[in-house]
Amino acid sequence: MSLSFEEKSTKMGLRIEIKRVLYDGYSPYQRITVFESEEAGRVLALNGCVMVAQFDEFIYHEMLVHPAFASSHIEDVLIIGGGDGGTLREVLKHKGVRRVRLVEIDREVIEVAKRYFNMDGVFKDSRVEIIIEDGVKYVSNVNDRFDLILVDSSDPVDFAASLYSKEFIDSLRSLRKGPGIVVFQAESPFFNSDAMVSLYKNVNNLFPHSGIYWTVIPSYPGALWTFVYGGDVDIRDSNKDDVEGLKFYNKDIHRAAFLLPPFLEEMLR
Ligand code: SAM
Repeated sequence: MSLSFEEKSTKMGLRIEIKRVLYDGYSPYQRITVFESEEAGRVLALNGCVMVAQFDEFIYHEMLVHPAFASSHIEDVLIIGGGDGGTLREVLKHKGVRRVRLVEIDREVIEVAKRYFNMDGVFKDSRVEIIIEDGVKYVSNVNDRFDLILVDSSDPVDFAASLYSKEFIDSLRSLRKGPGIVVFQAESPFFNSDAMVSLYKNVNNLFPHSGIYWTVIPSYPGALWTFVYGGDVDIRDSNKDDVEGLKFYNKDIHRAAFLLPPFLEEMLR
């Protein structure tokens, strides 16, 4: 009999046949599961929801990170969440980056990423500083300023819900310098449209430029996935050369990502 993982965040979920469970435990915040599969490769799930699947994680991480870099010179970056290290790995591909601070609530996600997803190197990079703290609390106390803030959070439930609130979005404004860009992973328009729309509207009301772009991530519910951005520049205006060695993102994908299907435009009106 084969063992299967079933995505818990929706009532019509992805099923992945498990070859071998590598880790299954509870941190003070959540259940953390790592398993090996035939078709999705190694998978990290938090509370039964896929966070990282090796076969397609590059799409999510490249699309969260590189569009912002295409428009602006970015040196100082803040990542909220992102304990799996994928976002950090993509940020570090930009040689102009001087400093990256990653604020993750759950130390154990980072330890699991180092151990099972080969992320040791990215966390050890001399430009990186790791802070174990709730992102909302961190943001309310920090005096530093960042060219780019990436909110790489889990779904808007429990301790992650506050990362989608108007108050949190507003508090990010005072942490900005330079192009002052924020990018949020913004969920599925099919299964979490309320979170997506409210993020979009709040960012739109609070930042001089803002918008939404999308991509396709097969291991996430509904596959079609969105990102909301705001800033002092509009990241649609890309003017930089492509970063070498990426597997999904390039200038053409950048342009395409901002073109919205009518059903999505309708939701955002
Ligand atoms: N790619 C992912 C997705 O959307 O499926 C997100 C990946 S990353 C693993 C999300 C991380 O955000 C988790 O490790 C979680 O612990 C962290 N997180 C959630 N709420 C947080 C908060 N309030 N402050 C800091 N980190 C938080």
